[in-house]
Amino acid sequence: MNVAIVTVGDELLVGDTENTNATWLCARLADRGVPVRRVTVVPDEVAEIARVVNEYHAEYDAVIVTGGLGPTHDDVTMEAVAAAFGRECVQNEEAAAWLADHGYSADDLTAETTHLPAGCRPLSNEAGVAPGAVVESVYVLPGVPTEMKAMFESIVDEFDGTPTHTVTVDVDEPESALLDRFTELQEAFDVSVGSYPGESVTVKITAATADEAERAAAWVRERSELVDIVDSK
Ligand code: ATP
Ligand code: MG
Repeated sequence: MNVAIVTVGDELLVGDTENTNATWLCARLADRGVPVRRVTVVPDEVAEIARVVNEYHAEYDAVIVTGGLGPTHDDVTMEAVAAAFGRECVQNEEAAAWLADHGYSADDLTAETTHLPAGCRPLSNEAGVAPGAVVESVYVLPGVPTEMKAMFESIVDEFDGTPTHTVTVDVDEPESALLDRFTELQEAFDVSVGSYPGESVTVKITAATADEAERAAAWVRERSELVDIVDSK
């Protein structure tokens, strides 16, 4: 399966908030071997959110949307996701019952917290109030990172891929000196190679098996000036 991530919020687009939800979701999905094909940031506008959700729903196996679920005027994500499917937001009795069961007063049970896209599967918010929702293969999660993470963990089993194996090697040579070695490496082994320059160059070798990743890493180590072996998993 593959996934597209849509993060919603004007604050992300002006640099007030760092998009840690996207990086956290990418890392979590990568751990599970689920490729993320897109990360997009959109403003708090119904038409913009609906257009991207509609396009990605057609293109990718699942779409994860975060942000804009709360009761404030700028939270329009549920309305936008409903619009992407040509649905209305309607009172969701399951979400309302969950909130009532968890001690939320009538004040908390405003239309904004209990109105969800018609026919959706509601997702309870263990770390906050506003529920999430699943509409077909579109998962709508809160923007607050602690709430988003808790809700994602409650549905994590629905994101099942083929985990890969990665070994990193820190090489103390300029990236330009490594180009031929990378070509040879990819010819000799069934791996993908990433190169991340900093003070040294971190070479990230990914393969379907730990054995193949280790053999390729050993090949690089034998031929390179090394800084250190950073990580192996
Ligand atoms: P609330 O019910 O609190 O309004 P919400 O689901 O509507 O939650 P937002 O209003 O979009 O979420 O954002 C709430 C908080 O979470 C803000 O402080 C925002 O900066 C932070 N946040 C939103 N999106 C992200 C993101 N992609 N990465 C990191 N933090 C985020
Ligand atoms: Mg909000």
